[in-house]
Amino acid sequence: MTDLATRDTLAVPTLDVAAVRADFPILARQVHGRPLVYLDNAATSQTPRPVIEVFDDYYGRYNANIHRGLHTLADEATAAFEGTRETVRAFLNAAEPREIVFTRGTTEAINLVANAWGRANLKAGDEVLISRLEHHSNIVPWQLLARELGFTIKVIPVDERGVLDLDAYARLFTERTRLVAVNHVSNAFGTVNPVRELARIAHDRGALILVDGAQAAPHQAVDVRDIDADFYAFSGHKVYGPTGAGVLYGKAELLEAMPPWQGGGEMIATVSFERETTFAAIPHKFEAGTPAIAEVIALGAALDWVSRVGIAAIADWEARLLAHATERVSRIDGLRILGTAPDKAGVLSFVVDGAHSQDIGLLIDQLGVAIRTGHHCAQPLLHHFGVDATCRASFAAYNTLEEVDVFGEALERVIGMVR
Ligand code: PMP
Repeated sequence: MTDLATRDTLAVPTLDVAAVRADFPILARQVHGRPLVYLDNAATSQTPRPVIEVFDDYYGRYNANIHRGLHTLADEATAAFEGTRETVRAFLNAAEPREIVFTRGTTEAINLVANAWGRANLKAGDEVLISRLEHHSNIVPWQLLARELGFTIKVIPVDERGVLDLDAYARLFTERTRLVAVNHVSNAFGTVNPVRELARIAHDRGALILVDGAQAAPHQAVDVRDIDADFYAFSGHKVYGPTGAGVLYGKAELLEAMPPWQGGGEMIATVSFERETTFAAIPHKFEAGTPAIAEVIALGAALDWVSRVGIAAIADWEARLLAHATERVSRIDGLRILGTAPDKAGVLSFVVDGAHSQDIGLLIDQLGVAIRTGHHCAQPLLHHFGVDATCRASFAAYNTLEEVDVFGEALERVIGMVR
């Protein structure tokens, strides 16, 4: 049994939200003369002090390029960078650090799989299953490649709650199905997908599964071995870390068999004009060029921060925030929630009769409340539900029940203004 599984069976620890908030300097600021209520966490979470401090420490003390130096600063930077690989391994419960590839984020991680694994393994007539819940970053890389290689993309349907139809999913498989690309948690609706079950079915049918974990990693314990994910991606900036650093997990035997996707320094063993150039072992084969060193180290600090607060405590707290917010907005006349899955992460998407989402977003900002409006990079999903845009409030560890009340009152006020 894993550490995470053990922790899940114990009583859920409570989260001290005042202590959590004290770590985030940005939460003290005012917006339009009011205290900031930041409910756009699914787009980017805010950054705690230990993560911010990494940049001062790194650039003030040991800024150096990694891996190839033989001096003290280079050694220190390399140790901190590679230390984060181990932190990420533990965070995902991966078997080995070499299964962790650093990328710029989820988008780059998925593009890596498409271009390295996809190009080598997909051909005309093959099939890739993609869920209707996907973010554009788990659709468009596959469409670009399909246009070139001629494979077919099939869509896993959702029901009226935004829950994947598992029977339809199982029926989509043929002997040509090679890959399932699905998110763990939907950024637009908050649906938590049964990725373990999806993986089991995919593997039974001889297909691989790539899980986009951008919205899961910040909100629940992730165990890639328990899921049996072949690939798992997430972004630092949604998990209290910086922009510019993200992760691709891949099973070692898959990564080893994949060709590189970008060439350059760091990813080679030997380079020659006379003989074939040879490549570094994984994960370095996929990390061409100088990476975002400070950002990766800061991502490690962010995951350490999450571990200190406790991911189970965060999940429990966000469930309370979501329940409170759902109950509060449900009282508003003409408001319709999109995404009513029984298993949801801290995302509340809604539309309001007679009020344009963008107007709501702009006006509620005047009251200090930051929510997101638009298509949330999930146009196929929103169009399926007959809308172009929704308002989305999304929660993080530092949000409070009082903030949810402020949001509810502000929302009622702006709806009254635009109707
Ligand atoms: N997948 C999902 C589910 C997301 O929510 C996001 C970010 N909104 C992405 C992928 C893309 O992440 P990034 O922009 O950090 O690459």
